[in-house]
Parts: sequence; structure tokens; C-alpha cells
Amino acid sequence: MIPPGFEYYAPTSVNEATALLKQHGADAKILSGGMSLIPLMKLRLATPRYIIDINRIPDLDYIREANGFLKIGALTRESDLERSELVRSKYPILIDTSSTIADPLVRNMATVAGNLAHGDPANDHPATMLALEAQVVAVGPKGERRIPVSNFFTGILSTALSADELLTEILIPIPPAGSGGAYIKMERKVGDFATAAVAVQLTIGADGACERAGIGLTNAGPTPVRAKKAEDVLRGRKINDEVIRQAGQLASEESDPKSDLRGSAEYKRDLIRVLTARAIRRALERAGNGS
Ligand SMILES: Cc1cc2nc3c(=O)[nH]c(=O)nc-3n(C[C@H](O)[C@H](O)[C@H](O)COP(=O)(O)OP(=O)(O)OC[C@H]3O[C@@H](n4cnc5c(N)ncnc54)[C@H](O)[C@@H]3O)c2cc1C
Repeated sequence: MIPPGFEYYAPTSVNEATALLKQHGADAKILSGGMSLIPLMKLRLATPRYIIDINRIPDLDYIREANGFLKIGALTRESDLERSELVRSKYPILIDTSSTIADPLVRNMATVAGNLAHGDPANDHPATMLALEAQVVAVGPKGERRIPVSNFFTGILSTALSADELLTEILIPIPPAGSGGAYIKMERKVGDFATAAVAVQLTIGADGACERAGIGLTNAGPTPVRAKKAEDVLRGRKINDEVIRQAGQLASEESDPKSDLRGSAEYKRDLIRVLTARAIRRALERAGNGS
């Protein structure tokens, strides 16, 4: 199907883009990689009257560490993450996540920021960013604000971004020594959205006890889910088989998946239990403390 007509803008600065957002409000949509927006427009499930294409704004395409954060600019593509030596060496959880998204053609276009801004609980980065306790930087006519990812997802396909705000940057706290993370996804076939997936990020102290635990779940409810009870059971303890079993069980209980073509709710809840345990083990290995 052909999308209905729209007016097209190609601003060359963040200020210009946010001024256009302010002018056109909810009738406008940002276009970054277009890998979610364009299919929705072709199905006429999204019918924006104004498209604001941010691809000509310079200096939004970067991956760098500064001031205690890994900073990912709004025009960083999935394929940029995969090619980044910094990400490959220090943030394998991001490679786990990115490499399971769609196919290389989609990943050459799709942005990490768009993956979050779309607000889809089936997208893969939200769970990982929850586990990493990331923040997003939103810029609007009133200035700039930081939003913790744990407060970002407000409903199905909706986020805490106002209609006049642009997501310009993702901030991931640089993990301290003894940290490791993993994202494990079950998909029906390569490139599919997750039946369910789990992200785990751990920090293990010198005494072998877990100092920090972040767990995020994909396709496990109307919004990406942070499995707080499962995190709590890990924190402060030496992680052994019994602790892992408890965390998997709690994550499963915290999930609220729906039955669909990918499986029944019961199957998905059990999958979350199993994937949580596997992701904890892989995160432990990467933290250098696992068996
Ligand atoms: C065949 C196919 C398979 C896919 N499989 C997967 C998968 O397995 N896992 C997965 O996670 N995703 C999957 N996707 C979705 C794809 O990864 C997402 O579309 C992409 O990450 C969204 O980023 P984008 O840059 O393409 O955003 P766009 O499509 O350009 O935008 C998506 C939404 O976010 C808004 N937006 C985008 N950028 C910003 C910004 N900087 N500030 C404010 N709002 C913004 C747009 O207005 C729009 O509402 C698939 C897509 C396709 C086409």
C-alpha cells in the first residue's frame, strides 16, 4: 500500500528539528532509519502529516566514552555498534542485542535511538538498556533533560518523550571492573522479533558477591519489563545454582506476556525463566566469576 501524502522536512540542526516539532506537534513524526515508521505508514497504521527527517543533522552519529558514560548518538545505526571496536571489546551485551535484530540490510539503516523511541516492547534494545540502567537525552524547545530508561516506556508504542522532543543521545554508565552482561533471545527464525528475550547485567565484587544486577525482558508485557524482584534476589549474594533458579522463577512471575502466533503466554513465561538463568550464567562468565 502507498502511504498517504505528507510534507517532508530535512532540518540540518537539532534546533531546527525541535522548532518544526513544536510547530506541528502530534501531526509530525521524526524519521531516522525509517525501519519501523515506513512500514507503519505503508500499512496506514501511522499517517503523519509532516515527516521530519533528521539524517542531515551533523554530529549525531557517534559512539564514545566520556564523563563516566558510553554515549551513543541518535543517528548511530545498529551496524555501527557491530563495527565498533569499543563496543565489541567492552559491551558484548550490545553486540548480542544488535546482532539479533532483523537482517544486515535493516541494521544498516535502523538506529539504536529509534529502536527505543518507537516504544515497542518487542524491540530488543529496551530490555538491554533497562539492564544497563541507561538514560536517554531528550531535547525540546524548553531545553535538554535526561530520562532514565526505567521511566521511559509508558505504554504500547508510547514513551516519555513529548511531541516536541527529539531523542539526541543514549547514556550508558560505564560498568565498573567485575561487570558482565548478556542478552539472550529466542526467535522462531533468524531475523524475527523475539518470542521472548532476557538481558542481564551484573557487577561482582572482590568477595564474589553480586554488587549490582540489572534484568530486562523483551516481549514480556505491554511495555519492556524490568524484573526487579529477580534483580533483588541476586544483589548481595554469591550467585550459585539455587540463586539462579530463584531469579529465573521470579523473572517469569514478573512477566506478563500475551499468547500469539509465537507461543502461548504460559510457554513464554517458562521461556523467560529459562532464558533468565542462561543470561545470568553468561553474564557471570563475562564478569570473570562464573564457571
Ligand atoms: C524486517 C524488519 C525486521 C525487524 N526486526 C526487528 C527485531 O528483530 N528486533 C528489533 O528490535 N527491531 C526489529 N525491527 C525494527 C527495527 O529495528 C526498528 O525499526 C528500528 O530500530 C527503529 O529505528 P529507526 O531508526 O528505523 O526508526 P524509525 O523507523 O525512523 O522511527 C521509529 C519511531 O521512532 C521515532 N523516532 C526515531 N528516532 C527518533 C529520535 N531520535 N527522537 C525521537 N523520536 C524518534 C519515529 O518518529 C518513529 O515513531 C525490524 C524492522 C524490520 C523492517
